[in-house]
Amino acid sequence: MKQAIYILILASITLLGIVACTLQVKDNANSTINVTSNKTELPSATNPQANTSMQDSSQSLPFNQTALNELNRLNHLNSLGYLNQSDFSKIEKMFANDTYASGEITEIEALSKYHEYEHVFHGLSFLMDYVTTGYPVICPGHSISHYYVYMRHNETGFANDNLQDAEQNFERWIPMAKAYNEQYNVTADFNATVSRIQDDMMNIENGNSTATDDEIEWLATEGSICVDDKSK
Ligand SMILES: [Zn+2]
Repeated sequence: MKQAIYILILASITLLGIVACTLQVKDNANSTINVTSNKTELPSATNPQANTSMQDSSQSLPFNQTALNELNRLNHLNSLGYLNQSDFSKIEKMFANDTYASGEITEIEALSKYHEYEHVFHGLSFLMDYVTTGYPVICPGHSISHYYVYMRHNETGFANDNLQDAEQNFERWIPMAKAYNEQYNVTADFNATVSRIQDDMMNIENGNSTATDDEIEWLATEGSICVDDKSK
């Protein structure tokens, strides 16, 4: 079942025709998503619950096949540049009783409004992981990248939400990300990756709310070692 789920995601994402993207199935329980550029990676963490039967109910999350199908549909529309605010109404209803998922979809809607297609894809991918595994993804580097993106659009509320996520999760993320990196070698210098994300957070705390395109891209790719938050 695990493999089937990821093959489903792979098939759906492959159909997007979006910016060249691939999903590499490393084994039955883990995956790494490469997006857009040759440097873009969104590593996903383990999904030990993924063998649980997915339900077809529109009421229950996670393991909801209907929700996964809908996220795939939104991803497809995003890849074509045809994703409108009205397209989110169905998924909003499905996620209405799930605080994490409804919050994420609200952020994705905002990213879509500003035509941040790559980050919409990231957000939908994180939600697919959540729907598939039952665990929210924590990814401080990526949260910081979205902080900068939101600040570019003067969306201070969303920006600060992402900054807060990064800061609150950072310390407990380190050992989980270190273990993940030792297993999958996402980065050759894990300590340098951690330090660079920390530098970004310090810069923001010191009043600098902007970053270069290259820095945002790094945070969203090489700086994104994402793990499932199994404490939730
Ligand atoms: Zn992103």
